[in-house]
Amino acid sequence: MSEYTNVLVAIDLSEDSTHVLQRGQAIARNHGAQLHLIHVIEPLSFAYGGDIPMDFSGIQDEIQQQANAQLERHAQNHGIDAQHRHLALGRPETEIHARAEELGADLIVVGSHGRSGFALLMGSTANGVLHGAKCDVLAVRVLK
Ligand code: AMP
Repeated sequence: MSEYTNVLVAIDLSEDSTHVLQRGQAIARNHGAQLHLIHVIEPLSFAYGGDIPMDFSGIQDEIQQQANAQLERHAQNHGIDAQHRHLALGRPETEIHARAEELGADLIVVGSHGRSGFALLMGSTANGVLHGAKCDVLAVRVLK
């Protein structure tokens, strides 16, 4: 069996993130692969831009600072150095695919909620990452 060489773990910074990251880390360790960690911040303007006539920049800065601190905490807890942490801004699926290609990742690890029904089998982000990925994708089941 060929080994993975470059594993990219995507976390949404929810309480599931530690579990998803630990799975990714175990696989990377077993394969002797490099481990990268990414979180993508979705700009508020994507959700509210057209509807609410308001300047989001202050809140957006605050969100970015918080996300950065949380990403750093996860990375430090798992011994992932600064060059292997990635904070991106945009749509999660798009940014995860782009960073995976840039890094030459051969495995992307995401969390997936075990909701019933095919459409709900995977959360929308996990599903989006799976479709269009140019490498393997592992969906780690998270309970909720
Ligand atoms: P969801 O589809 O939102 O239930 O998320 C499922 C999984 O997709 C999460 O466990 C993460 O692995 C990944 N994910 C969701 N949102 C993000 C995000 N903003 N940045 C990085 N990964 C994410």
